[in-house]
Amino acid sequence: MPNATHPDVMERLVSLCKRRGFIFQSSEIYGGTGSVWDYGPLGVELKKNIKDRWWHAMVRARDDIEGLDAAILMHPRVWEASGHVAGFVDPLVDCRNCKKRFRADDPRIKGEPGTPDAQCPACGMKGTLNAPRLFNLMFKTYMGPVEDTASVVYLRPETAQGIYVNFVNVQQSTRQKIPFGIAQIGKAFRNEITPGNFIFRTREFEQMEMQFFVEPGTDMTWFEYWKGQRMQWHQSLGLDPARLQFHQHTTEELAHYARAAFDVQFDFGGTLGFQEIEGVHNRGDFDLTRHSEYSGKKLEYVDQPNNRRYVPYVVETSVGADRTTLAVLVNGYREETVAGESEGRTVLALHPSLAPVKAGIFPLVKKDGMPEMAARIAADLRPRFPVFYDEAGAIGRRYRRQDEVGTPFCITVDGQSMTDNTVTVRDRDTLVQDRVNADNLRAVLEERLAR
Ligand code: ATP
Repeated sequence: MPNATHPDVMERLVSLCKRRGFIFQSSEIYGGTGSVWDYGPLGVELKKNIKDRWWHAMVRARDDIEGLDAAILMHPRVWEASGHVAGFVDPLVDCRNCKKRFRADDPRIKGEPGTPDAQCPACGMKGTLNAPRLFNLMFKTYMGPVEDTASVVYLRPETAQGIYVNFVNVQQSTRQKIPFGIAQIGKAFRNEITPGNFIFRTREFEQMEMQFFVEPGTDMTWFEYWKGQRMQWHQSLGLDPARLQFHQHTTEELAHYARAAFDVQFDFGGTLGFQEIEGVHNRGDFDLTRHSEYSGKKLEYVDQPNNRRYVPYVVETSVGADRTTLAVLVNGYREETVAGESEGRTVLALHPSLAPVKAGIFPLVKKDGMPEMAARIAADLRPRFPVFYDEAGAIGRRYRRQDEVGTPFCITVDGQSMTDNTVTVRDRDTLVQDRVNADNLRAVLEERLAR
């Protein structure tokens, strides 16, 4: 029975996502665009629920983090200060024969690219690989009507810089005292050379980033704190703790300015295995110092009780909304046999708080007042949470369709409902059905969804 570590699972998940309206290939009717995806009606809800959980945990439920929504287009000097213009480059290798392009560190390349010995991993020709050339991962465009070098701007490759350049604005307007953080969710763009694995690595994606400004010397304590908090958050989404781990950056992996870095990794199974979904970084005073140098503005914190000024250190947490969505989908995907039934079922065991639809509501048959009662129940629940009313086809098939999109509960109005006002509530995971009085249904569901 395929489970999440089965190699075919990603393929099946992609097909489920398309069939049921979670995720479509972008511009599909034109043949699709490379590694860009559109979220359909259920996908947009799932990703929004993940973003809402993050925003709640990081901003709403705390008094030491402020929210921000900075623009995607920033002053070009930002990317010089951040190091992205000079450093955000990958060495690339082209094959003169088959025209395929590879990262220079692609493990399939045997020999030194640019020499007669190197063999192309795609077409197998020897001596056709060019020497590596640097390629900048930032998308470039022009601001205003004139396309000249003076009007070049970049689509941001990360959201963090919008936070750094607003550090003083946010601190002064909110009068926050250090330690405090600034959080934002937004699109980022990277012209990735090897995108792929569905929404794992795309060229347009969403990040949820938080920069926590601390007094130098307290940074490692806060770093440890945020590591713990972030791991707990991933577990709170229902990700299996056995599929989550930390990966400490080695000296080679560590960015030159970073004082420490850990990735939170999730086991995607198949050929991917454990991969980064979030980075927790101790960035020291690198970013604020650089922006200070490049802008000529002081980016300091004034500690009034102790009468001193300093450039705070930054502990960053940076998680991909799309990559977390994929982790949640992979984590929840199951194909199961059902006792006593010939047909198996596909289940998305999503955490109730993330499920796009919280309850399916069905009349057992389309007569005897059942549709009317079921419609009344749906109308009563809909203002509280998303429900789906369905009266078409065999009841078993209706249950299966909801299992497949992760709906935690199915409510059925049957013959008995017409006499005693009870309905059945079926649990997606245990398949247990119990009877609940229709008048208590809203309270019962709200209680079960909050578990
Ligand atoms: P990777 O090594 O996978 O390219 P990274 O170390 O460059 O990632 P960061 O710059 O730390 O990633 O970005 C933080 C988070 O943003 C990542 O953990 C990931 O969840 C997400 N992310 C980064 N690049 C992409 C991408 N191309 N597509 C989807 N999500 C991404």
